[in-house]
Amino acid sequence: MSTIEPASGLGFDEPVPSALLHLLGTLSDPASERGVECAGALPPAGDPALPARAAEAKAALGDRVFILGHHYQRDEVIAFADTTGDSFRLASEAAARPAAEFIVFCGVHFMAESADILTGPTQQVVLPDLAAGCSMADMASLDQVRTCWDTLSELGLADRTVPVVYMNSAAAIKAFTGRHGGTVCTSSNAAQALRWAFAPSDQGGRAADRVLFLPDQHLGRNTAVRDLGLSLSDCVCYDPRRPQGGLTREELANARMLLWKGHCSVHGRFTPACVDEVRARIPGVSVLVHPECTHEVVSKADLVGSTEYIIRTVERAPAGSQWAIGTELNLVRRLAHRHPDQTIAYLDRTVCFCATMNRIDLPHLVMSLESLAAGHVINRVRVDATTAEEARTALDQMLALPGDSTATRRD
Ligand code: SF4
Repeated sequence: MSTIEPASGLGFDEPVPSALLHLLGTLSDPASERGVECAGALPPAGDPALPARAAEAKAALGDRVFILGHHYQRDEVIAFADTTGDSFRLASEAAARPAAEFIVFCGVHFMAESADILTGPTQQVVLPDLAAGCSMADMASLDQVRTCWDTLSELGLADRTVPVVYMNSAAAIKAFTGRHGGTVCTSSNAAQALRWAFAPSDQGGRAADRVLFLPDQHLGRNTAVRDLGLSLSDCVCYDPRRPQGGLTREELANARMLLWKGHCSVHGRFTPACVDEVRARIPGVSVLVHPECTHEVVSKADLVGSTEYIIRTVERAPAGSQWAIGTELNLVRRLAHRHPDQTIAYLDRTVCFCATMNRIDLPHLVMSLESLAAGHVINRVRVDATTAEEARTALDQMLALPGDSTATRRD
């Protein structure tokens, strides 16, 4: 379980009901990835002095601060990032800079938790807006995952089930995975993680009969079918809101993949009709999508891969290439801006940013940096020691996966 510290001067001694937190708008609900509106002296968004204020505060902090910018962040925030990347790369970058006292993570809550787990005890991780959560991570609570595991245990299935948890999950879920001999994975190494789980023990694997993959059903399904050659009928969807996940014992026992019923609200917007529409609109276009998209969309795409893979594919493409890209809009727009010699379109005609990623804006970054420069740590994200240790077990297992576990998948 992680805790989130309120803005200075707003501390409560006792836990506050989340409904009240929402009303107050001053603290975060530690049981939720979404959090609530954070407090602080938030400057007005239209203040033209904001870029200068951010630069001044950052300069005043010097090497004491290291700013991480996820690929899905706004341009106005990326402009001040010391490095950009996906969630795992950013957490690793933070861990590689033990001299940085403050890690300002411009991303969402589970990423800040991962950075806190991987950084040293003297480093403090700050999320500029505590309301920047992830709706997918919120789709798997610890209570729900425990109930699922209890169900599998009662049915005599837990012993041969290995949990594989996507990086996009709360620290408590990663810790659960560590306790039960599983691994974390990213969209880059999900195939290696599944192969390890199913491999015989004399080959270093876990000899699983089945994998419990959570919380993104689409990444699990796409990886199982496309990379491991499993069939769609090998995959069943476990709905945490229904008794026994809405499945019979036979369905649970026969499945190779138990897919948690979770999804990304951004990547879930792309449909097969979007692919048909863009192919008609831009003849010869190559469709490049993230594996968090549905299996129907992925099946119609030309190329599928992680965020880092999408970036590298475009960077290496010759002038005149035409792309329709199915991932978060801030990244697609930035790629289009950086590669004016290529045609880069958003896969969906409807403009849709990740709403929570977009909560990190320049006013929140300025507020965080100026507070740190003034000696006040606000909006710190901290994972308790036990949770961090167990989560680190699952993260270490990911790093030990055979092959280049952080390599980008190629199709
Ligand atoms: S893009 Fe999807 S997975 Fe990423 S933070 Fe937003 S909701 Fe979560």
